Amino acid sequence: MAQVYNWQLGREMDYRFEEAHPERQFAAVFNINRCIACQTCTMSCKSTWTFSRGQEFMWWNNVETKPYGGYPHHWDVKLLQLLEEANPGGQAWNSSQLGDRQPYGVYNGKTIFEAAADKGNEHALGYLPSDEEWTAPNIYEDTAMGAVGVPNESHLEATQLPEHKTWFFYLQRICNHCTYPGCIAACPRNAIYKRPEDGIVLIDQQRCRGYRKCVEQCPYKKPMYRPTTRVSEKCVACYPRVEGSDPLTGGLPMETRCVSTCIGKIRLQGLVRVEDGEWAEDRNNPLYFLTRVERVALPLYPQFGTEPNIYYIPPRWVPRPYLRQMFGPGVDEAIDRYTNPSRELLAVLQLFRASQTIIFRYAIEEGEKLEGTELFNDTAIGFDKNDNEVVRLSVREPFYERPQQFQNSI
Ligand code: SF4
Ligand code: SF4
Ligand code: SF4
Repeated sequence: MAQVYNWQLGREMDYRFEEAHPERQFAAVFNINRCIACQTCTMSCKSTWTFSRGQEFMWWNNVETKPYGGYPHHWDVKLLQLLEEANPGGQAWNSSQLGDRQPYGVYNGKTIFEAAADKGNEHALGYLPSDEEWTAPNIYEDTAMGAVGVPNESHLEATQLPEHKTWFFYLQRICNHCTYPGCIAACPRNAIYKRPEDGIVLIDQQRCRGYRKCVEQCPYKKPMYRPTTRVSEKCVACYPRVEGSDPLTGGLPMETRCVSTCIGKIRLQGLVRVEDGEWAEDRNNPLYFLTRVERVALPLYPQFGTEPNIYYIPPRWVPRPYLRQMFGPGVDEAIDRYTNPSRELLAVLQLFRASQTIIFRYAIEEGEKLEGTELFNDTAIGFDKNDNEVVRLSVREPFYERPQQFQNSI
């Protein structure tokens, strides 16, 4: 195996292939705190990409209720158990070893690649979900953990932050277009590749023979098998939109379907520049700012080792040990910064789902202090790939009064 550097783990790790990086990387930030589980993202992906025969159980985007929900069922619990068996008690971080190249410290445990190497014959630790586990994608929706109070009676005591005794949250999931994908490592046909221009991970449908090794060894369980064609398929990151070749985009990179339809405005997606194998410093790219400067957005299960490129602002009300297991040791800092946002962060948060055109750069225009609050009415401005302004939003939403003659119309 080759040695590659994984900044989310703060160390080198084993991987099947030598380190190679795209010019830009497809990435996104999902703000869990704002999701209402309306599943509009899920349906917009389905109606675009997976509405045909053989794709009935294929949900490239899904939103599951944690802690019990999952698609396929219990995918993450099973992976965590496999890692635990391979390295009992080993999923631990040394958070005192901080640095630019190790912002969360150093992960001391084994990744899915290292655990598989010990076993010998596979490239990544994994399992193949049963047919039953691919059914009921929204099982356990809104099922809470840790009930308090008496069933069917009102809760007389209010719940307070920072943590709720009864809790659940929605986890939005698409392919992570990982830097070191488990699916690519797994494929015996080399039918999966990462595009050099944007880091999008695709399955070559001509080369795939349906061995389902990707289904088995993607820890996030995002490749799915299609029985009618006998090949595997996965999220394609809506690449015609991202590369600007979809006629709708007018030639400009545009957000994916699941991102651009998000009702809760929880998603922001874009492309970040990569230099020398790492995200190039680009302070005013909103994704770079949120993940590397402000550090409010964290990778999902970084300990798996694939360096996923979808980042999450963790939910404020969930017990921290659960969140630390899911998002790593950056959770406390991320929640602190999200709960008490800087002026700049508050402005950048306005850009979520503000424009279908991908924002490559933002600028802030400072505004007045809002009376009776500690907030400032700053304006966030987003620019497209050609540095033309595409969106402008202030912290305080403008107030429009409907004229008398339109009172009863829509
Ligand atoms: S569309 Fe947005 S708010 Fe609705 S479920 Fe999807 S991520 Fe959540
Ligand atoms: S999430 Fe899974 S399918 Fe997507 S790139 Fe990573 S390993 Fe591959
Ligand atoms: S990026 Fe496109 S293909 Fe991928 S889950 Fe979202 S809508 Fe589906």
